[in-house]
Amino acid sequence: MYDVVIIGAGVSGSASARELSRYKVNACVIEKTEDVCSGTSKANSGIVHAGFDAPEGSLMAKLNVEGNLMMEELSKELDFPFKKNGSLVICLSEEDMPKLKELYDRGIRNGVKELKILNKEEVLELEPNITDDVYAALYAPTGGIVCPFGLNIALAENANTNGIEFRFNTEAQDIEKIDGGFIIKTNQGDIKT
Ligand SMILES: Cc1cc2nc3c(=O)[nH]c(=O)nc-3n(C[C@H](O)[C@H](O)[C@H](O)COP(=O)(O)OP(=O)(O)OC[C@H]3O[C@@H](n4cnc5c(N)ncnc54)[C@H](O)[C@@H]3O)c2cc1C
Repeated sequence: MYDVVIIGAGVSGSASARELSRYKVNACVIEKTEDVCSGTSKANSGIVHAGFDAPEGSLMAKLNVEGNLMMEELSKELDFPFKKNGSLVICLSEEDMPKLKELYDRGIRNGVKELKILNKEEVLELEPNITDDVYAALYAPTGGIVCPFGLNIALAENANTNGIEFRFNTEAQDIEKIDGGFIIKTNQGDIKT
């Protein structure tokens, strides 16, 4: 019988497990495949977004900006590769400038720090390999890249070290509500929470 069962050992499940491991809690993560980071988390672009894309006022915008600020310290704490190399959104013509300005304004309202609109000369100085057709760019110095596997594995390892059990090859097939909890029906038998 667990206090909490997390279904899925991707980056969300593993981060939740790590957070939960700070508390006195009997918890497990069940994962249908044989390892962590087997779903979407293994196949993304590895960008730690600055936060100008997320809809203004949304939880996603709030967590994006907060999460971005946490990543550098987290990478040192858990020892996974992270590089704050900044990001550029390129604009190729004057007529597209209102769209770039819209992104900038949204970013400012979302609380993204250090956002700047660079002119052609400034962009080429920062990134000489960009096309000469560049007109301007939105520069977000807080954007970065992370190793998606490194992040996911580090979160799961740390959660496991701190007492969260990981049960692989265990697929949740049904969830039944019972008095005071749930029964999770899996291919490996019932798990109560
Ligand atoms: C092409 C692409 C590019 C992306 N690029 C970026 C990016 O650059 N930056 C960024 O921040 N985000 C990016 N994302 C989004 C990001 O990858 C996802 O938001 C994130 O990986 C979701 O993690 P998750 O843990 O919720 O899901 P997943 O990683 O899919 O984890 C879910 C886990 O649950 C398991 N599971 C499913 N069903 C069951 C079951 N019934 N029982 C037990 N286990 C089960 C799966 O096997 C899997 O391991 C991108 C996404 C895509 C598709």
